[in-house]
Amino acid sequence: MEQVLPLQYLKGIGPKRAEVLAKEGLRTPQDVLLYVPRGYVNRDGSRTLAELAGVHGRDDVWARSDAATLARVTSEVTIIVGIVSMQEGRYGRGKTMLTVTVADGSGVTAQVVFWNMVEYYKRVLEPGRYVVMSGRPEFDQRWNRLSFTHPELERIDDDDVAGYRAGVILPNYTLTQGMRNAGITMKLFRQMVDQVIERTAEQMTDPLPDALRAEHNLVTLQDALRELHRPTVLANVVAAQRRMKFEELFFFELLLAARASSRKRPDRGCVVDPKSPRARALVDRLPFTLTTAQRRVIREIVDDMSSGTPMNRLLQGDVGSGKTVVALLSMLDAIDSGYQTLIMAPTEILAEQHYNGIRRMVDGLDVNVVQLVGGQRKKIRAEVAEAIASGQANIIVGTHALFEASITYQRLGLIVIDEQHRFGVAQRAALSSLAKQSFEDRTQTPHILVMSATPIPRTLSMTLYGDLDVSVIDELPANRKPIRTEVVFESQLSVVHEMIRAEIRRGRQAYIVYPLVEKSDKLELKSAVEHHETLQHEVFPDLRVGLLHGQMLWYEKEDVMRAFLQGDYDILVATTVVEVGVDVPNATVMLIENAERFGLSQLHQLRGRVGRGAEQSYCYLATKDYFRYQLQRSETAADRASAAIRLRTMEETTDGFRIAEVDLKLRGPGDMLGTRQSGLPEFRFVDLVADTPLIAVARDAAFGMLRADPRLQRPDHSGIRERLIALFEGSATFMTVA
Ligand code: ADP
Ligand code: MG
Repeated sequence: MEQVLPLQYLKGIGPKRAEVLAKEGLRTPQDVLLYVPRGYVNRDGSRTLAELAGVHGRDDVWARSDAATLARVTSEVTIIVGIVSMQEGRYGRGKTMLTVTVADGSGVTAQVVFWNMVEYYKRVLEPGRYVVMSGRPEFDQRWNRLSFTHPELERIDDDDVAGYRAGVILPNYTLTQGMRNAGITMKLFRQMVDQVIERTAEQMTDPLPDALRAEHNLVTLQDALRELHRPTVLANVVAAQRRMKFEELFFFELLLAARASSRKRPDRGCVVDPKSPRARALVDRLPFTLTTAQRRVIREIVDDMSSGTPMNRLLQGDVGSGKTVVALLSMLDAIDSGYQTLIMAPTEILAEQHYNGIRRMVDGLDVNVVQLVGGQRKKIRAEVAEAIASGQANIIVGTHALFEASITYQRLGLIVIDEQHRFGVAQRAALSSLAKQSFEDRTQTPHILVMSATPIPRTLSMTLYGDLDVSVIDELPANRKPIRTEVVFESQLSVVHEMIRAEIRRGRQAYIVYPLVEKSDKLELKSAVEHHETLQHEVFPDLRVGLLHGQMLWYEKEDVMRAFLQGDYDILVATTVVEVGVDVPNATVMLIENAERFGLSQLHQLRGRVGRGAEQSYCYLATKDYFRYQLQRSETAADRASAAIRLRTMEETTDGFRIAEVDLKLRGPGDMLGTRQSGLPEFRFVDLVADTPLIAVARDAAFGMLRADPRLQRPDHSGIRERLIALFEGSATFMTVA
């Protein structure tokens, strides 16, 4: 099927260069085909400097121009310029920068700025020489100046200039230093690709059947690869990329679908009657009306629980969106149908809050709520265990203690897990098997509801939690006062301290959070203790300042949190992320120091610790004074300064999903969610943020195909079947050329 053409036999390559290429992951012709250009040189698309200066900032013109298509394809502009002059400057402590003036004969010049590798650029950039420059233009309207920072520069061959003049679109590949050192120039690389395309195009098999391609308007694999490497027009590149992305997503989703269907045994779920008198009674006496989003989610849960198939649902909702009452109503449904229910929290203090909160809410409804946590007195523990085993206990609230071998459940039909990110799949399975044993016939499987306050864009969670259905509460109760958030600079800290003082005088409490200073435990401890001492003795000598840091044992942390909750401290200094989900409604101020060091999602979680009561709350993000400049810079310039974007986003919105999307854009899903643990794959073509709509399309296509042809036995599905088998064996990736 695949004729192996070791790259060394290609003209101009040879064994040495082939070895260098192999080191960069280019072993086979197939590898070369998937090594797509990072951009294109194109006369139609690359405008002149004058046009770039003119169109910049005017969306209408920009959107219509070919330059916009190009920018979409490559997110950068490629342009041929001549070097006019160079100037060295100094910045910081004796560091050198280089400013190069370039021109293209359009009457406008641009400044090219290099902060690093100044010596190198001084050597290679001679005035009078022509180069192909690829980068993102920045236009400063105040100075009417066009500039590029560290663009890619490539000496241009005479052939290319001719091609460029003739309107040919030339691909630009990323050449590593190793390739360059081995004499692999852009020209040689392009020739190599041409040879590969010529020799392999005939034998390439397209795994996507005609019907699927026609349905989703996808070009063939051959055409896609040819257009990616040798585009006839730029619009074709967009179509080619779409096809490659689709294929990658399709196989990814197909694998998820296949796994899901292989897992799906004919489990019998507990059947819950949707008409529950006690749930009805609770809704009637709530001091608020449920939000539309809460009602929609409750509907989804009820549908699951009455279906006869076990529910496996992830409930996402931002901090304060009211997940607890949704869980409680579902539990009451299950209780009225004769089942026991359980809610598990990651910490004792959270379990305690749930226990007290739930008891208050169901007071008078004849619901028996018990609590099961570590460190309970023997006698109490025995009573609780007895209530659980006898089936008297309707709602069991607890921590990991719920797993203890001495506990036997009685018809446990619904399991709720709060703050999901602390629990793994394995623990979910363990709870589920405990529940199974609680039925006499052992054949019933409990419903599982997992709740998370970590907002993840919907398509991503669909992808990540392939085995869970997802419900989202995307609306906060109407009565909420958004937390006022402000970036402050270190020179203004004393003002913030005064505001904190004023809030405390009004009976409120405050958090002051520091980032982890060092990875070293000793240093962290030292810095935590120092911060605390300074604040307690120098800044707030008259107030009670508590301390929470990462080196404390879990129960020491819980003791401090509890003391803060009870009002024994006015201020809580924390170097570690304040315990997830703990509700201290009286805390109205959060000061985060060195806020630029925190990730966006982390900042959002931290801020969620305040604003939980009826009072107006405040969040101050303190950062270095020199950030003031960064924060004021124009939009384009700022996209390099991601810290500035993070702080600005926090000021602009309190919407967790919007924040998650920005975070995802800044960091990528791997960093944001921890790819390794989450099992999120590395994609070659797909951008999980930008390609959101396509994910849904590919998912429907993959799941639909398996439904129609579960064993992929139709002749035109044989290519798909083959790849799927290879995926299961780990011998293929989602985008493989064979
Ligand atoms: P989270 O989703 O962060 O777990 P909670 O369930 O703790 O949020 O709810 C936060 C607060 O909002 C609680 O005091 C709860 O009683 C209240 N709440 C829940 N739903 C509503 C609503 N629809 N309108 C007003 N307040 C609500
Ligand atoms: Mg909660």
